[in-house]
Amino acid sequence: MPYDAIVITAHPDDAEVQMGGTIAKIADQELTVLIVDLCDGEPADYAEPGVRIQQAQRAADILGADRLILDGQDRFIEDTIPLRLELAQLIREHRPRWVFGTAEACVHPDHAAVEPLVTAAVFYARLRNWDRVPGGEILAKTEPWIVDRLFFPHCKMEPAWGESFDFAVDVSETYESKKQALAQYQSIFETETSDQLLELYEAEDMHMGRLFGVDYAEIFKAHSPLLVDDLTTFKPGLHG
Ligand SMILES: [Zn+2]
Repeated sequence: MPYDAIVITAHPDDAEVQMGGTIAKIADQELTVLIVDLCDGEPADYAEPGVRIQQAQRAADILGADRLILDGQDRFIEDTIPLRLELAQLIREHRPRWVFGTAEACVHPDHAAVEPLVTAAVFYARLRNWDRVPGGEILAKTEPWIVDRLFFPHCKMEPAWGESFDFAVDVSETYESKKQALAQYQSIFETETSDQLLELYEAEDMHMGRLFGVDYAEIFKAHSPLLVDDLTTFKPGLHG
Protein backbone atom coordinates (compact mmCIF):
# COMPACT_ATOMS: atom_id res chain seq x y z
CA MET A 1 0.00 0.00 0.00
CA PRO A 2 1.17 3.55 -0.54
CA TYR A 3 2.44 5.56 2.43
CA ASP A 4 2.82 9.32 2.57
CA ALA A 5 5.85 9.02 4.84
CA ILE A 6 8.37 6.30 5.64
CA VAL A 7 10.55 6.75 8.72
CA ILE A 8 13.63 4.53 8.67
CA THR A 9 15.61 4.19 11.90
CA ALA A 10 17.88 1.60 13.48
CA HIS A 11 15.93 0.46 16.56
CA PRO A 12 12.35 0.33 17.82
CA ASP A 13 12.09 3.60 19.81
CA ASP A 14 14.40 5.71 17.57
CA ALA A 15 11.55 6.97 15.40
CA GLU A 16 9.50 7.89 18.46
CA VAL A 17 12.41 9.62 20.22
CA GLN A 18 13.51 11.56 17.16
CA MET A 19 10.17 12.54 15.65
CA GLY A 20 7.25 10.90 17.47
CA GLY A 21 5.33 14.18 17.66
CA THR A 22 5.77 14.74 13.94
CA ILE A 23 4.64 11.20 13.13
CA ALA A 24 1.47 11.73 15.19
CA LYS A 25 0.93 15.07 13.50
CA ILE A 26 1.23 13.58 10.01
CA ALA A 27 -1.18 10.80 11.01
CA ASP A 28 -3.63 13.37 12.41
CA GLN A 29 -3.76 14.91 8.94
CA GLU A 30 -5.07 11.57 7.71
CA LEU A 31 -1.81 10.88 5.94
CA THR A 32 -0.19 7.48 6.30
CA VAL A 33 3.13 6.73 8.00
CA LEU A 34 5.22 3.57 8.01
CA ILE A 35 7.97 3.21 10.61
CA VAL A 36 10.73 0.85 9.48
CA ASP A 37 13.12 -0.40 12.17
CA LEU A 38 16.26 -2.05 10.83
CA CYS A 39 16.31 -4.56 13.72
CA ASP A 40 14.18 -5.69 16.67
CA GLY A 41 16.39 -4.01 19.25
CA GLU A 42 17.36 -7.22 21.03
CA PRO A 43 18.78 -7.66 23.57
CA ALA A 44 16.67 -5.07 25.41
CA ASP A 45 17.96 -3.74 28.71
CA TYR A 46 15.03 -4.67 30.94
CA ALA A 47 13.01 -7.39 29.19
CA GLU A 48 13.06 -10.87 27.77
CA PRO A 49 13.34 -11.36 23.99
CA GLY A 50 10.17 -10.49 22.09
CA VAL A 51 8.80 -7.96 24.55
CA ARG A 52 10.32 -4.90 22.89
CA ILE A 53 8.62 -5.49 19.55
CA GLN A 54 5.23 -5.78 21.28
CA GLN A 55 5.90 -2.47 22.98
CA ALA A 56 7.01 -1.00 19.65
CA GLN A 57 3.75 -2.07 18.02
CA ARG A 58 1.74 -0.41 20.78
CA ALA A 59 3.81 2.75 20.40
CA ALA A 60 3.16 2.85 16.64
CA ASP A 61 -0.57 2.36 17.26
CA ILE A 62 -0.59 5.31 19.63
CA LEU A 63 1.08 7.52 17.03
CA GLY A 64 -1.22 6.28 14.27
CA ALA A 65 1.57 4.68 12.23
CA ASP A 66 2.19 1.23 10.82
CA ARG A 67 5.42 -0.53 11.71
CA LEU A 68 7.74 -2.94 9.94
CA ILE A 69 10.67 -4.51 11.75
CA LEU A 70 13.47 -5.84 9.54
CA ASP A 71 15.76 -8.69 10.54
CA GLY A 72 19.03 -6.84 11.19
CA GLN A 73 21.03 -7.50 14.33
CA ASP A 74 21.13 -4.73 16.93
CA ARG A 75 24.73 -3.46 17.34
CA PHE A 76 25.76 -4.84 13.94
CA ILE A 77 23.73 -2.65 11.54
CA GLU A 78 25.88 -1.72 8.55
CA ASP A 79 25.53 0.13 5.27
CA THR A 80 25.49 -2.87 2.91
CA ILE A 81 24.35 -3.27 -0.70
CA PRO A 82 21.68 -5.89 0.16
CA LEU A 83 20.17 -3.62 2.83
CA ARG A 84 20.26 -0.60 0.48
CA LEU A 85 18.38 -2.69 -2.09
CA GLU A 86 15.86 -3.90 0.51
CA LEU A 87 15.11 -0.33 1.56
CA ALA A 88 14.94 0.87 -2.04
CA GLN A 89 12.48 -1.93 -2.71
CA LEU A 90 10.31 -0.74 0.21
CA ILE A 91 10.39 2.81 -1.16
CA ARG A 92 9.37 1.62 -4.62
CA GLU A 93 6.56 -0.52 -3.19
CA HIS A 94 5.14 2.14 -0.90
CA ARG A 95 5.86 5.27 -2.98
CA PRO A 96 6.20 7.79 -0.14
CA ARG A 97 6.27 11.56 -0.55
CA TRP A 98 8.70 11.86 2.31
CA VAL A 99 11.42 9.61 3.66
CA PHE A 100 12.98 10.28 7.05
CA GLY A 101 16.16 8.74 8.48
CA THR A 102 18.66 9.35 11.25
CA ALA A 103 21.62 11.51 10.21
CA GLU A 104 24.90 12.86 11.53
CA ALA A 105 25.13 10.15 14.16
CA CYS A 106 28.43 8.80 15.43
CA VAL A 107 27.85 7.68 19.02
CA HIS A 108 25.96 4.47 18.17
CA PRO A 109 27.29 2.68 15.07
CA ASP A 110 23.77 1.44 14.20
CA HIS A 111 22.49 5.01 14.07
CA ALA A 112 25.53 6.04 12.01
CA ALA A 113 24.71 3.44 9.38
CA VAL A 114 21.22 4.81 8.74
CA GLU A 115 22.16 7.99 6.84
CA PRO A 116 24.21 6.32 4.08
CA LEU A 117 21.69 3.47 3.85
CA VAL A 118 18.66 5.73 3.50
CA THR A 119 20.38 8.19 1.18
CA ALA A 120 21.46 5.35 -1.12
CA ALA A 121 18.04 3.68 -0.98
CA VAL A 122 16.26 6.89 -2.00
CA PHE A 123 18.66 7.23 -4.92
CA TYR A 124 18.48 3.57 -5.96
CA ALA A 125 14.67 3.78 -5.88
CA ARG A 126 14.65 6.30 -8.71
CA LEU A 127 16.98 4.39 -11.04
CA ARG A 128 15.93 2.25 -13.99
CA ASN A 129 17.36 -0.85 -15.69
CA TRP A 130 18.06 -2.88 -12.57
CA ASP A 131 17.65 -6.03 -14.65
CA ARG A 132 21.03 -5.16 -16.14
CA VAL A 133 22.75 -4.86 -12.76
CA PRO A 134 24.14 -8.15 -11.45
CA GLY A 135 22.89 -8.43 -7.86
CA GLY A 136 20.33 -5.66 -8.27
CA GLU A 137 17.62 -7.69 -10.01
CA ILE A 138 15.27 -7.44 -7.01
CA LEU A 139 14.55 -3.84 -7.99
CA ALA A 140 13.59 -4.79 -11.55
CA LYS A 141 10.23 -6.04 -10.23
CA THR A 142 9.02 -2.56 -9.24
CA GLU A 143 8.73 0.77 -10.98
CA PRO A 144 11.14 3.59 -10.16
CA TRP A 145 9.92 6.07 -7.54
CA ILE A 146 11.20 9.57 -6.83
CA VAL A 147 10.47 10.83 -3.32
CA ASP A 148 9.58 14.51 -2.82
CA ARG A 149 11.85 14.95 0.16
CA LEU A 150 14.46 13.22 2.25
CA PHE A 151 14.54 14.62 5.79
CA PHE A 152 16.65 13.84 8.82
CA PRO A 153 15.42 14.30 12.40
CA HIS A 154 17.92 15.00 15.17
CA CYS A 155 19.30 11.92 16.93
CA LYS A 156 19.11 12.73 20.62
CA MET A 157 22.18 10.64 21.51
CA GLU A 158 24.22 13.15 19.57
CA PRO A 159 25.34 16.68 20.53
CA ALA A 160 22.67 19.35 20.07
CA TRP A 161 22.40 20.99 16.67
CA GLY A 162 21.89 24.44 18.21
CA GLU A 163 20.11 26.45 15.56
CA SER A 164 21.86 24.60 12.70
CA PHE A 165 18.83 22.81 11.31
CA ASP A 166 16.58 23.47 8.34
CA PHE A 167 13.12 23.50 9.88
CA ALA A 168 11.17 22.55 12.96
CA VAL A 169 7.73 21.06 13.40
CA ASP A 170 5.48 22.42 16.14
CA VAL A 171 4.47 19.23 17.94
CA SER A 172 2.84 20.84 20.96
CA GLU A 173 -0.56 19.36 20.16
CA THR A 174 0.69 15.81 19.64
CA TYR A 175 3.32 15.75 22.37
CA GLU A 176 1.15 13.75 24.77
CA SER A 177 0.95 11.00 22.14
CA LYS A 178 4.74 11.01 21.83
CA LYS A 179 5.12 10.66 25.60
CA GLN A 180 2.57 7.86 25.71
CA ALA A 181 4.32 6.06 22.85
CA LEU A 182 7.70 6.32 24.59
CA ALA A 183 6.15 5.15 27.87
CA GLN A 184 5.38 1.80 26.18
CA TYR A 185 9.09 0.98 26.06
CA GLN A 186 9.45 -0.44 29.54
CA SER A 187 12.03 -2.82 28.06
CA ILE A 188 14.52 0.03 27.64
CA PHE A 189 13.36 2.93 29.81
CA GLU A 190 12.69 2.99 33.53
CA THR A 191 9.17 4.25 33.02
CA GLU A 192 8.02 3.26 36.52
CA THR A 193 10.24 5.87 38.08
CA SER A 194 11.36 8.89 36.12
CA ASP A 195 13.82 7.90 33.43
CA GLN A 196 16.65 10.37 32.95
CA LEU A 197 16.83 9.70 29.21
CA LEU A 198 13.14 10.40 28.72
CA GLU A 199 13.53 13.62 30.69
CA LEU A 200 16.45 14.64 28.49
CA TYR A 201 14.49 13.91 25.31
CA GLU A 202 11.58 16.00 26.50
CA ALA A 203 13.91 18.79 27.60
CA GLU A 204 15.37 19.01 24.09
CA ASP A 205 11.96 19.16 22.43
CA MET A 206 10.85 21.77 24.94
CA HIS A 207 14.00 23.82 24.38
CA MET A 208 13.50 23.72 20.62
CA GLY A 209 9.89 24.77 21.12
CA ARG A 210 11.02 27.78 23.14
CA LEU A 211 13.01 29.01 20.14
CA PHE A 212 9.68 29.42 18.38
CA GLY A 213 7.43 30.39 21.28
CA VAL A 214 5.59 27.05 21.30
CA ASP A 215 5.59 24.26 23.88
CA TYR A 216 7.43 21.56 21.91
CA ALA A 217 9.18 21.30 18.56
CA GLU A 218 11.13 18.59 16.69
CA ILE A 219 13.94 19.66 14.38
CA PHE A 220 15.02 18.40 10.97
CA LYS A 221 17.67 18.81 8.33
CA ALA A 222 16.76 18.47 4.66
CA HIS A 223 18.84 16.53 2.15
CA SER A 224 18.45 19.33 -0.39
CA PRO A 225 17.41 23.01 -0.13
CA LEU A 226 13.78 23.70 0.66
CA LEU A 227 11.40 25.33 -1.80
CA VAL A 228 7.92 26.73 -1.20
CA ASP A 229 5.48 28.64 -3.36
CA ASP A 230 3.21 29.62 -0.48
CA LEU A 231 4.91 31.81 2.12
CA THR A 232 1.98 31.39 4.49
CA THR A 233 3.45 27.92 5.10
CA PHE A 234 5.82 29.61 7.53
CA LYS A 235 4.64 30.14 11.07
CA PRO A 236 5.73 33.40 12.74
CA GLY A 237 9.19 33.44 14.37
CA LEU A 238 9.74 34.82 17.85
CA HIS A 239 11.80 37.71 16.51
CA GLY A 240 10.72 37.83 12.91
ZN1 LIG B 1 18.62 3.59 18.59
